[in-house]
Amino acid sequence: MQVSDNTNDDFLFIDDSDEDEILDEGSADTWKILIVDDDPEIHSVTQLALSDLTVLGRKLEYLHAYSGEEANTIIAQDNDIVLVLLDVVMETDDAGLNVVKHIREELNKQDIRIVLRTGQPGYAPEESVIKDYDINDYKTKTELTRRKLVTTVYAAIRSYQQITAVNESRKGLEKIIDGSANLLELHSVQEFGQGVLDQVKPLLHGFESGVFCARGHGIIEGADDLGLYVLAQENMPQDFVNQKLDSVASSECAEQINLCFQQKKHITTDESFTLYLTRGGYRAVIFVKLSSPMSELDEQLIEVFLSNIAIGYENVHLFQKLRNAAYKDWLTEKPNRLEFLNQLDKFANGDEQKLVAALVDINHFSDINDGLGQEVGNQLLLAVASRLSDLGDDVVVARVGADVFGLIGPERVLSPEQLTALFSRPFEAGEQSLPINVCTGLCRKADSGNGGVKVFSQIGIALNLAKKDADVHYKYFRPEMEEETAWRLGMIRQLRTDFAADRLELWYQPQLDLASGKVTGAEALLRWRNEDGKFVSPAVFIPLAEYSGLIIDIGDWVVEQACKLIKQLESQGFDDVGISVNVSIPQFRNNLFVKKVISTTENYQVEPSKLELEITENILMDDPQMVIDALVQLKEQGISIALDDFGTGYSSLSYLQKLPIDRLKVDRSFINEIAQPGKSLLADAIIGLGKQLNLNVIAEGIEDKDQEQHLRDQCCDEVQGFYYAKPMPVEEFLAFLKSKTES
Ligand code: C2E
Ligand code: MG
Ligand code: MG
Repeated sequence: MQVSDNTNDDFLFIDDSDEDEILDEGSADTWKILIVDDDPEIHSVTQLALSDLTVLGRKLEYLHAYSGEEANTIIAQDNDIVLVLLDVVMETDDAGLNVVKHIREELNKQDIRIVLRTGQPGYAPEESVIKDYDINDYKTKTELTRRKLVTTVYAAIRSYQQITAVNESRKGLEKIIDGSANLLELHSVQEFGQGVLDQVKPLLHGFESGVFCARGHGIIEGADDLGLYVLAQENMPQDFVNQKLDSVASSECAEQINLCFQQKKHITTDESFTLYLTRGGYRAVIFVKLSSPMSELDEQLIEVFLSNIAIGYENVHLFQKLRNAAYKDWLTEKPNRLEFLNQLDKFANGDEQKLVAALVDINHFSDINDGLGQEVGNQLLLAVASRLSDLGDDVVVARVGADVFGLIGPERVLSPEQLTALFSRPFEAGEQSLPINVCTGLCRKADSGNGGVKVFSQIGIALNLAKKDADVHYKYFRPEMEEETAWRLGMIRQLRTDFAADRLELWYQPQLDLASGKVTGAEALLRWRNEDGKFVSPAVFIPLAEYSGLIIDIGDWVVEQACKLIKQLESQGFDDVGISVNVSIPQFRNNLFVKKVISTTENYQVEPSKLELEITENILMDDPQMVIDALVQLKEQGISIALDDFGTGYSSLSYLQKLPIDRLKVDRSFINEIAQPGKSLLADAIIGLGKQLNLNVIAEGIEDKDQEQHLRDQCCDEVQGFYYAKPMPVEEFLAFLKSKTES
């Protein structure tokens, strides 16, 4: 039905107004109004009637639809429509009401205001419809004078504005509640700061960029006590995170933040908003650059937001403190062992292949600590930590033990060459400049096992092998090493048990005067029979005993057995037979060693010169002065010293003169070929050297007559070897001595 025919629209031209009172100042923004009417004239008169109107600072803008269907399309497409002036009767009697349903039910647009207009009162909708569909006003066109239309439109737009304001503040509050809940779950102050900026951004309409700033102490590695640091940022021109505020951010930003910290309150300017966040003694400042001044609503929301997140801020600090205590080394502030294990987990489970993990152990750190004091020791560790950090940002540096550092980084950076170069310069510790040596165990990602604990044990294995190796000071982990290690640990366990159960034996190999053929002494040699009665070679188990430290107790026992035997020999009339015992490096390192040897000779009332300690040249490599000091003390007591395996090690002739030794033992390897023409040069030279130094010279490993003859020609003093006797149990040795004296 067409209704326009009998509609009188003249009412719109009746000037009944002094409506100027509701005219506001204009601005660039507009309110969009959709006029829906099948009568084109209504469009133009409505527009004309409202032409001067400005509502809440904005002018009106019009969209036009001439049917319900057309209206539906426009409303679906345009999100800025605030008011629909809607004719009820158009293509159908209820076309207008259908538009209302469409807006509210299908498009779910609850904010849009709707004013229904109709030509005839008979088409008025039910009151319930007006309520349910939130229709602002229902007017017959005859009722609508120009003044009334203006008032109706004004009221509708105002109510639209209030509804959106309330909605926005509700949305803002929802964001705050969600945001605060999220923030409570964050565990680092940096993450928290980023979270705060993420939440503030949608809350503040003119948000351009933001910076979250707090004191860096305890949060950022190496941060001084009072420095302010950028902990998070949003939309900044470059990355300032974890850097000092003063050196990075724009001067305006730094100025506002400093001021805010001083004044302890928010600061608002036209271009920025600086928020002061404090709780439980922890403070932060959030600087936000704005493109437009903040609205009152923004300000209120921010207030609510801040009070909501303050507790989260305190929590995150407490959490960080706990983390620091649990995962940081107190001295260097580097990750500790626990955190290193976490990092190794990431290393083991990550995809990056060209990585390597390493342990670096400082040699003889305890000597520095004991000798120069703990303070110097600490400073040395700090200096090492700091130089390791110079390897770069992509290297994890942790302190995992007193003098052990853990590293994870790219293979090309953590190469043995780079590390050697790094430790080649001395370290400054207090007034001292200390050169140090290190041993390094490494494990490539490709060889690493599952999980941090596994990798840690793998680099540990490599490190232990590196420590044992006299030639190189680093080792890469190889999977076979694990089996070797398991075997070694099994052997060590067995050796410990057997030693405690007194199942180790000491055998003796006679030493003879070459000229007279008389037995002058014997070398005590350890023998270990395993469960099935087979002997394990000392060449195998002595290194294990050294490695495990067991050699210290075993060595004491050997010295004691030797002293007992010397006594026994005396009692049986063998007054001038001495006993030599072999001594390993770890025994010398033990502070009590010298004392114990001396007290054992005293306890057994043994003539000290009858006890001989055999040391190898390699013993000097480690710490020559310590060994020389120990030998001098032993020598002062009259104990004899022999240099074993002479010629095979890192002989240093300059030390040879400083050592208080009594005799040289020419190694078996030189004696082997001594009888062959032209092969005796080295042996001859060694014997000659010993003679020149006024040392007694003994050759070991003589197996035949020709060798003996050659040694006679060279005037070698004494001999030891299978040619005369193999090592034998003590009873056999006593029998051997007796048979020799009888013959
Ligand atoms: P070493 O001190 O050089 O001992 C000499 C080794 O040469 C002994 O091997 C001995 O059995 C062997 N030998 C002696 N004469 C001959 C010979 O004519 N031909 C051949 N082929 N070999 C001969 P052993 O007993 O297997 O000891 C090996 C190494 O184990 C010793 O070398 C020594 O370094 C170490 N060792 C043995 N007992 C002890 C000990 O009580 N304490 C320490 N620290 N090391 C020990
Ligand atoms: Mg020996
Ligand atoms: Mg030897």
